[in-house]
Amino acid sequence: IEETVAEDMARFEDSFVGITKRYRLINRIGEGTFSTVYKAEDLEYSSFDNKWDVDEPETRKWASPSQKRRSRRPHYVAIKKIYVTSSPIRIFNELELLHDLRSSDSVCPLITAFRHQDQVVAVLPYFQHRDFRDYYRDMSIGDIRLYFRSLFTALRSVHAKKILHRDIKPTNFLYNPQLARGVLVDFGLAERQGTDWVQCNCTLQAEDRRYRISHSVYAQTLQSTTSQHSSYPKNDTRSSRRANRAGTRGFRAPEVLLKCTQQNTSIDMWSAGVILLTLLSRRFPFFHSADDIDALLEITAIVGKKKMKDTAFLHGQVLESNIPSYTEGGHTLEKIILWCTGRTKDETGAKKELDDDEKDAAKFLYRLLECDPAKRITADEALRHPFILQALD
Ligand code: ADP
Ligand code: MG
Repeated sequence: IEETVAEDMARFEDSFVGITKRYRLINRIGEGTFSTVYKAEDLEYSSFDNKWDVDEPETRKWASPSQKRRSRRPHYVAIKKIYVTSSPIRIFNELELLHDLRSSDSVCPLITAFRHQDQVVAVLPYFQHRDFRDYYRDMSIGDIRLYFRSLFTALRSVHAKKILHRDIKPTNFLYNPQLARGVLVDFGLAERQGTDWVQCNCTLQAEDRRYRISHSVYAQTLQSTTSQHSSYPKNDTRSSRRANRAGTRGFRAPEVLLKCTQQNTSIDMWSAGVILLTLLSRRFPFFHSADDIDALLEITAIVGKKKMKDTAFLHGQVLESNIPSYTEGGHTLEKIILWCTGRTKDETGAKKELDDDEKDAAKFLYRLLECDPAKRITADEALRHPFILQALD
């Protein structure tokens, strides 16, 4: 029997002793794999200087705490109830990284956290935003520039601290189109760069690079569903390769899918590229992969077999595919955007083209959806790229 939102909120208020003294729950705003998020009013809001409260009139910003308390304007927070099934290490990791990032630009700061028995909640300022599904089809290139200026500002500050977010996607970047500003949330999968690094082929000099099959490398053999499983290694005695693959399907960078053992902050830039591809193609979700192999195939369909083989090689993997429809060279992003937006040929049969703004966007997109992480654009570089700089004009 499905529990109503009201029942769920009442149960939470009953079980988390003391929470109602400080917060009045208003609604449930998020329900994910790892948490439930509620909008609530902070009943004791006083001197906390909420720089995120964009509606706060200038005159009130400088009011004394007592003056602020006297005014009846409500202050909202997001209470993130982290599921008790999450390991304590995981919960600690999220809170610690948020604490580390507390003064980072465009990252939603942690106000406080509470624990009652095995239940932990994180309290964040409530950020007014719009659901991505409501606006992704209507964004102009100008809007897109502003969106990414904000996202890269957040990523620059996260990456400056050598933290990988690992789950960049629209639901984790709360964007307010009116303000042309967003905040990054959800550090549940984030990690410090280098945490369990083991040398990967990709960090070797090109001449030292080789297939390290004899070592603990798992060869990916991609097969179409119709083929026999002939070339797949049976009784494989090699230990399988371990790498962090946390993230969301469809947003994972090739090196994550290929189990690179030295993943760095550039994985987030790939995911940002998937968002840009979504906006330009007006398709959400753009990728629909069921698993990692499927995800690799979807990328291969775009970039081509040659590029994907080279990318696999980079990380010491072998990639074989016998799917006949995949071309060696893949397709240009321009072509994919045209296809997705139904602009293949006009009435006279002449090929259609992207407009100049879209061409600029596509050029920039190549820098994000670059398969080699070492060549992929960084957040800092992206903010200095002409495509993003034009947002200021
Ligand atoms: P999960 O780990 O379960 O994905 P998130 O931190 O991503 O949890 O939060 C889930 C959802 O809750 C978000 O997608 C967003 O809709 C909402 N949310 C989270 N934090 C805030 C916030 N500070 N302000 C407004 N909404 C928020
Ligand atoms: Mg999330």
